Amino acid sequence: MTDTPMFPVWRGGVASWGGAVGWSQAWGWGRCLRWEPAGPGEGAQALDGPIWCVLCRECRVRLQEACQRGQGALRLRADMLSLKLPQLEAQALLDTHQVPKVFREDGIISGYRDPQSSAKDCLLSSFQLTNETINIWTHFLPTWYFLWRFGVLCSTLNFLSDSYTWPLLVYMLLICVYPFTSSCAHTFSTMSPESRHICYFFDYGALSLYSLGCAISYGSYVMPDGWVNSWLHQHYVPIAVGNTIFCTSLSCYSSKVLRTGAFVFPFLFDTVPLFYRLLLCCWGSCGPSEALVNHSYHLLFAFLTCFLFASHLPERLAPGRFDYFGHSHQLFHVCAVVGTHFQMEGVMADMAARRAWLVTHGAAPSLLGTAGALAAGVFLNLGIIALFSAPLFWKLPQLRGRCRGAAATHGVNPAPHTE
Ligand SMILES: [Zn+2]
Repeated sequence: MTDTPMFPVWRGGVASWGGAVGWSQAWGWGRCLRWEPAGPGEGAQALDGPIWCVLCRECRVRLQEACQRGQGALRLRADMLSLKLPQLEAQALLDTHQVPKVFREDGIISGYRDPQSSAKDCLLSSFQLTNETINIWTHFLPTWYFLWRFGVLCSTLNFLSDSYTWPLLVYMLLICVYPFTSSCAHTFSTMSPESRHICYFFDYGALSLYSLGCAISYGSYVMPDGWVNSWLHQHYVPIAVGNTIFCTSLSCYSSKVLRTGAFVFPFLFDTVPLFYRLLLCCWGSCGPSEALVNHSYHLLFAFLTCFLFASHLPERLAPGRFDYFGHSHQLFHVCAVVGTHFQMEGVMADMAARRAWLVTHGAAPSLLGTAGALAAGVFLNLGIIALFSAPLFWKLPQLRGRCRGAAATHGVNPAPHTE
């Protein structure tokens, strides 16, 4: 090993620290820190300039102590300087005819990711401009907005002991879950056709649970005065739990037309009490209220959301023009989130304004009607997703490879799981 002293450095030269004398001379760094050349003959030319290092006062003392303790013991290799940064190469994007039919979207011609991406590629692709990037971010960022609103509510309301707030708690949880699940589904949907289906099963499940969250909060805060304690009010949440089963099963099972119907139906059911209140207002039997204004905006955006999802506008009119920016699914995400924002404001306004009336008329929320309904919804929906995913799960390429490997080592014929 050549003892070429390549580290005469730490030449701080900062007047307040070392005065006119550089650190190297003041502390003798050269005696304890030496660069070991990367290979024979590579010595000095690998590093011919001084290294400037800025240390905080405490670090300086620590380093000095370490230096004194281990005189000459610390040797650094010259090639440690060439940091190896991970190579973030952009994925090559594909056109519609280069991907299997299941990955194609109407009116979107280019910008498709490799349909056999790894999980890491999928994750990295969210930072590259593809036809899914805006879909991912238009639901990922709102997740943080809703989490922030939820956090603020946690510090102002007493969710633990005030049973009147439980429906809002369930609702807030679910409006954080659905955009997050959706952004994950969009991120990881290009690993294989099977994983795409499984990703979207979770997306449908989360949406359907969101409709249950709407029903739980509407049943407790939005129900018209005249309907409180009616048959519909008493059966409203149990029916909504049933709707989630119907909605998730149908959307996992079916074509796009039926899927749209599967989401419109629970939404219409949830909104019946609200429609009735708005109708009463149109007949003049209500005063202006902040809640109803927000509910009206929510309905407007909900209608737009549905229209965009079903119509595939604008990309249907100009295929290829909106591949990256402005296609219907991105607009659908934005409208859904803005609609949810107004819905949340409406629910909270009703909750605050109608508290005294609702509590005196015996409509206090129960644990069973809130947390119980949520637990039942989550359990049943996960069950349905598992049921639909199981046959696909065995076809996942990663798993299939592993099963084959395991089967080979155990002498088992893996044939039943292959197509
Ligand atoms: Zn989406």
